[in-house]
Amino acid sequence: MPHRRVVLLLPALILPAATSAQTEFRVTASFSILADLVRQVGGARVRVVSVAGPDADVHAFSPRPSDIESITRARLLVRNGLGFDPWFDRLVRAAGTTAPVVTASERIVPLMAEPHHHHAGDHHGHGHQEGGRRRHHSVEPARAADPHAWQDVRNARVYVENIMSGLVAADPTASEDYRRNWAAYDARLASLDADIRSSIARIPQARRVVVTAHRAFEYFGAAYGVRFLAPQGVVGHAEPSAAEVANLIRFIRAERVSAVFLENVRNPALLQRIAAESGARIGGRLYSDSLSGPDGPAPTYEAMMRHNLGLLVSGMMGEAG
Ligand code: ZN
Repeated sequence: MPHRRVVLLLPALILPAATSAQTEFRVTASFSILADLVRQVGGARVRVVSVAGPDADVHAFSPRPSDIESITRARLLVRNGLGFDPWFDRLVRAAGTTAPVVTASERIVPLMAEPHHHHAGDHHGHGHQEGGRRRHHSVEPARAADPHAWQDVRNARVYVENIMSGLVAADPTASEDYRRNWAAYDARLASLDADIRSSIARIPQARRVVVTAHRAFEYFGAAYGVRFLAPQGVVGHAEPSAAEVANLIRFIRAERVSAVFLENVRNPALLQRIAAESGARIGGRLYSDSLSGPDGPAPTYEAMMRHNLGLLVSGMMGEAG
């Protein structure tokens, strides 16, 4: 017995040191939400780096020269696409890498949005059924894809499947692990989707109107039946005009908007002012485009969606946020 035991233990002692370089598969993602999705599918084998870290404003992100290193070292690259992370594409070009690039949003039919900020409240009356993002303009701005597709969990499931395919193709030796991790995670996302749906369904239709900082929740709104208004656009950081803010405040009062939410990626000052002037409650801080750090309330995609759901439900039900 003792003799046999030594034989069995020996490979376990030697293998980690000898093969850690081979078993570690490096992936670099453009932003924190994608990095988490890669981690869920990649499991222990994958070492994931996110170029834009927790709480980063990805729209306005400017990479440092040193970020090129994380691209050069990666064997697989993951971008959102839909115009969200063009700086990542520039980094990839600058790095001159031949590593394959996964576009996580591939196969998703995007919602269309205007690139500039808007007087929320005007012309947004009919929700997704009638193409609520369409608004009247004297000068029609170019419409672009809304990149925030992950806010609909069904889209996140497409992201994860694209990531799984990318990992399997780039690292076929571990394909069984990737498929197994993916199947388990996809099942969790399916129940997350169902939980959001049933939680929102319990809220009376008239209460399902909230205000956020920027237009990051159109996919959530369309998928789960919540109307989101925002003083800032899908991408734009331009401060809304005084008239636009006044419009939004009038709208909040007239429609008895349940709550105004801050976002982790935006300065809270404007929203705090709007809440104070309209009498709306601050419903807490939603995580829109980036996760929190490991000790925050949204260190993973799943935690982020559940955190946001909890705040939204309390806010819409009129409970303290
Ligand atoms: Zn955004």
